[in-house]
Amino acid sequence: MRKQLQHNDKMNMLSELAASFAHEIRNPMTVARGFVQMMRQNDLAEDKRQIYSQMVLEEVDKAQAIINDYLSFAKPQLEEIELMDAKPLILQTVQTLQSFADLRGVSVETHLQDKLMISANPDKFAQCIMHLCKNGIEAMPGGGKLQIVGVLQNQTVCIDIIDQGIGMTQDEVGRLGTPFYSTRGKGTGLGMMVTYRAIQNIHGRIDVTSEVGKGTCFSILIPSLHSSTYH
Ligand code: ADP
Repeated sequence: MRKQLQHNDKMNMLSELAASFAHEIRNPMTVARGFVQMMRQNDLAEDKRQIYSQMVLEEVDKAQAIINDYLSFAKPQLEEIELMDAKPLILQTVQTLQSFADLRGVSVETHLQDKLMISANPDKFAQCIMHLCKNGIEAMPGGGKLQIVGVLQNQTVCIDIIDQGIGMTQDEVGRLGTPFYSTRGKGTGLGMMVTYRAIQNIHGRIDVTSEVGKGTCFSILIPSLHSSTYH
């Protein structure tokens, strides 16, 4: 019964999401179409053609990002959950983000305790870490420091992702995870929704503390496998 309810909840959410998804995807498509039409003018200067084709690429990329995020949410949860140490996976994920951080003048520091044992799907979990780190880096347009701290506390694995970026108001924090809520030009606003859902699926939660102009801390809290409450 409970399972059925959860399934219905997800189906309702997916159909609601599909409606706004159609709307969101139409915008970049309309803009791209407009530029392609302008490119068809015979006497168009080469520099203008270059600019328009760049705009078309950007809009198509945006549509693609929305489709990818939606699919990663809608995909049936067939992924395998396994006993894993979060530490090496976080270190590996941070490494793949190194050039993204370097380009933005952001240094990344990790302070991770050994044996952060959780039960999760490694790919899904890496995706969450990647997303929160990427958001943190993007929140520091003038550069700064991103810290990732992982400890085992009260039978809970706590992973803090701390940036020194623009921060958010209470209202903005409250809107995190709402489909299509994004303040970024190239954003889809689906990333946080996917991240919240993935952490909930492994019985965890994400707490957010943020101060405008100071920065944000995303705390991922997951029951450790040694916890007696975990089955
Ligand atoms: P996207 O990255 O596509 O915009 P997200 O769901 O990841 O979508 O984030 C939604 C919005 O939340 C962002 O556009 C941004 O306004 C805000 N946000 C997320 N992470 C941070 C952060 N670390 N600092 C400041 N704002 C953030």
